[in-house]
Amino acid sequence: MRLGGPARYVIEIEKPDDIPKAYNFAHKNNLPVFILGYGANTIGHDEGFEGVIIINRMCGIELLSEGVAALEGDPKMFCEAKILGREKSRQDPLHIKIMGGEYWDNVVAFACERGLTGIEALSKIPGLAGAAPVQNIGAYGQEIADTLVEIEVYDTATNTFKTLQKSDLHFSYRKSLLNTTEKGRYFVISITLALKKGQMPRPFYNSIERYIAENNCTDFTPQGIREIVSKIRADKLPDPLTTPSAGSFFKNIYLNDEEARLAEQKGYPVYRGHDGNKINSGWLIEQAGFKGALLHGIRVNDKAALVLINESAKSYQDLASARSEIVNKVYDKFGYRLEQEPEEITT
Ligand SMILES: Cc1cc2nc3c(=O)[nH]c(=O)nc-3n(C[C@H](O)[C@H](O)[C@H](O)COP(=O)(O)OP(=O)(O)OC[C@H]3O[C@@H](n4cnc5c(N)ncnc54)[C@H](O)[C@@H]3O)c2cc1C
Repeated sequence: MRLGGPARYVIEIEKPDDIPKAYNFAHKNNLPVFILGYGANTIGHDEGFEGVIIINRMCGIELLSEGVAALEGDPKMFCEAKILGREKSRQDPLHIKIMGGEYWDNVVAFACERGLTGIEALSKIPGLAGAAPVQNIGAYGQEIADTLVEIEVYDTATNTFKTLQKSDLHFSYRKSLLNTTEKGRYFVISITLALKKGQMPRPFYNSIERYIAENNCTDFTPQGIREIVSKIRADKLPDPLTTPSAGSFFKNIYLNDEEARLAEQKGYPVYRGHDGNKINSGWLIEQAGFKGALLHGIRVNDKAALVLINESAKSYQDLASARSEIVNKVYDKFGYRLEQEPEEITT
């Protein structure tokens, strides 16, 4: 959002040994630590951060042994891959290990170029790979929990390097162990995904199907879906390099079956997906009359009302005032309390 003051210290991690050193430095100086990725989902406070920001700068994408046979006939992969172990069947997933400092969209491009399905709908989500499991990034019917196998971490509670399996991470919508019960405890070093040769099953997410119908698209390979998703996103989401925003500022509202039935009785649009019943919070914000509005220098995006853009806000306080107005009006009108998605850096 390009708000907030400076940090006292920033430490960039270039090799695993740097991690305990960075935490020791913070510990010795009695300073709090905040792990930062690309900052696409993080908001700073006006007073700055009297602590240590640690950033994972370790990059690289490595193909692991599993599913090697799926690569047959793909010389590009054989050239680049560090392939170990025995061959398996073409249907087996291919495991890819990605260092946490790698830019997430490079990972999606890497997979799609090789015809690997599983993350193509997550194209163009800004951020680093290490942050992807933190809030279980998701878009257009896929989330990283669908393909994540394990993550390598530094555990600050025991000062040890560890591997956490997917089942340890308790993934749900925009949540994992990493941003709930054990928030700040683990520094993500790398993530491993299992991807397969093939295509996403149909029907695709509503907006993808709509785009296909309107534009007569015929290429549904991972690369084809990546192009469709990139176009949909470019049309409705601000480019984080030029326009300060945190993407979706609020989480969607998830309802149990009874709540969903009541909402439908009131005429609210409830989307019943494989991940549960949800109301798009952007719809609530739009119905509350905020679409396109400018509140304290914060613009409610006129294409996707869930996205708040910092147009001329001077401080975190301006953002907080805009947020309160939106949350309160939506609550008064619909009885749903909007929950903020981005993290805040607090001392
Ligand atoms: C224009 C725009 C569009 C977006 N669209 C989507 C979308 O479609 N779907 C979606 O899910 N999100 C979306 N987002 C949100 C954002 O892209 C994701 O949350 C992304 O994963 C953030 O990555 P980051 O590297 O910027 O993380 P940061 O904002 O730097 O950090 C986010 C959180 O992860 C923690 N963290 C970061 N790195 C590590 C690490 N190595 N180890 C442990 N913890 C770490 C941080 O402490 C913080 O709590 C969007 C954001 C923008 C600006």
